[in-house]
Amino acid sequence: MADDWNIRTKLVHTGSRRSQYGEMAEAIFLTQGFAYDTAEQAEARFIKSGEDEFIYARYGNPTVRMFEDRIAAVEGTEDAFATASGMAAVNGALTSMLRAGDHVVSSRALFGSCLYILEEILGRYGVNVTFVDGTDLDAWRAAVTPGTKAVFLESVSNPTLEIVDIKAVAEIAHAVGATVIVDNVFATPVFSRAVELGADVIVYSTTKHIDGQGRALGGVICGTKDFIRKTVEPYLKHTGGSMSPFTAWLMLNGMQTLDLRCRAMAESAARIAAALEGDARLARVIYPGLASHPQHALSARQNTAPGTMLAIDVAGGKEAAFRLINGLKIWKISNNLGDAKSIATHPATTTHQRLPAEQKAMLGITPGLIRLSVGLEDADDLIADLRAGLDLI
Ligand SMILES: *Cc1c(COP(=O)(O)O)cnc(C)c1O
Repeated sequence: MADDWNIRTKLVHTGSRRSQYGEMAEAIFLTQGFAYDTAEQAEARFIKSGEDEFIYARYGNPTVRMFEDRIAAVEGTEDAFATASGMAAVNGALTSMLRAGDHVVSSRALFGSCLYILEEILGRYGVNVTFVDGTDLDAWRAAVTPGTKAVFLESVSNPTLEIVDIKAVAEIAHAVGATVIVDNVFATPVFSRAVELGADVIVYSTTKHIDGQGRALGGVICGTKDFIRKTVEPYLKHTGGSMSPFTAWLMLNGMQTLDLRCRAMAESAARIAAALEGDARLARVIYPGLASHPQHALSARQNTAPGTMLAIDVAGGKEAAFRLINGLKIWKISNNLGDAKSIATHPATTTHQRLPAEQKAMLGITPGLIRLSVGLEDADDLIADLRAGLDLI
């Protein structure tokens, strides 16, 4: 495998395994299992399987392995384990390494299901979780203890685009020997520098930019070979969270255009943010690429581009936000992100509905907040559509 290839080359070629037919496109090995030549071979494979030896699709599959090798090469980790969804990846990364009595520190600004795992599930098994404001380094310093086994954060938070300083948090965590687990969905593998900044484990929902066409749920955990094969794999292969071969094939195809799509979408996001900033009907336009973003400089240091997501806070509150969203013709009202189709989401009533009012207020999830996932349509058309929506409020 060529380690010195640049990202676009890796996204197209790395990890490909060809059968005896030399097929050009990655093959889908749509099989649950594999036949052995002899009983001795089966016995040997259960003791230790080699590179191209598989047992059962819950343990591993050639198409899934192609996807794991490709994403690991792109992210810059030694290995990766692909999962059935982004949440199987978040849960797998945490649960596989934690024991009763362990302590975890997590940033508070999290995707609703991530919050559910950290707030509701881990506690049932005796893991203590301390939540902090992820942007406050003193809070991280105060929260970690010698018993802290892991820290968890979304590097760019959903939906308010707060940036957590991976390098600084990693230094704080590593001083007590804690593993740094980063949910990197908003940063994308294309713009991520998480590994060089000190993240130990990087988790993606591949449902988002990696598929990029809204077709399938998927997830992946990237980390060292030791962590992936000795900690994550035993947990996931026995608890049933593995990715299906068909999904891995979709993701492999998604990856071939990932760099092009993320760059085009980020370029449009920057144009949309600039076009909307200063509009009197908006209390805020939140985009890390704008100089007005509180962590503009950190974003520029941490990611190679400010990303494909933005948020706008409509001054008129929920009714005005709904009028705007309902008036959109191109943007779809939905809750995925990273899709080729642009999507408008009202977090307070959908993705973050479950949170109590005080928590929404603390996280900046106001009644007027609209999260915008910028797709591949023409940026001028997207801006005109938003302006027409704004005229309805
Ligand atoms: C979507 C998302 C997830 C969950 O991924 P699924 O594929 O829907 O299970 C986790 N974290 C973040 C930040 C997300 O945006």
